[in-house]
Amino acid sequence: MTLLEAPTSWQGPVPAMDPLTEPYWDSLRQHRLALLRCRQCGYWLHYPVPACRKCLSDDVEYQPVSGKGSIYTFSVVHREFGIHFPIPWVAAFVELVEQDGLRLPTNIVGCAPDEVSIGMPVQVTYRDYEDGLTLALFEPDVGGGSGR
Ligand SMILES: [Zn+2]
Repeated sequence: MTLLEAPTSWQGPVPAMDPLTEPYWDSLRQHRLALLRCRQCGYWLHYPVPACRKCLSDDVEYQPVSGKGSIYTFSVVHREFGIHFPIPWVAAFVELVEQDGLRLPTNIVGCAPDEVSIGMPVQVTYRDYEDGLTLALFEPDVGGGSGR
């Protein structure tokens, strides 16, 4: 059985840092997942935006999330496409337990490609690469209990 794996070194694109997104990448380096949240209404915001999509307040800050969720959708990819994950790899959107529609584009690792399914409970896992780049990937949540 082939397990989905992350690359051992990163040859893919590197995120451009700016004041809005840098705290996200900083949190990953500490193996914590933090996303922007509105301090006025509590709405989570991802991808990062400078004002709340719900109440338009610009009083937003990064706060930690559980790192637990479920697979919203995915694709098993059998070509490299310059991403340099070992083939096959699984591109997915994971919906976090914190909020309906709070979804992260990511990759699934730690299980066989044919085990991946929509609604599958997953949890965040981290991979550290050169130049301080850490990626947030997701693996099966063996404890389950994402509650979705
Ligand atoms: Zn708000």
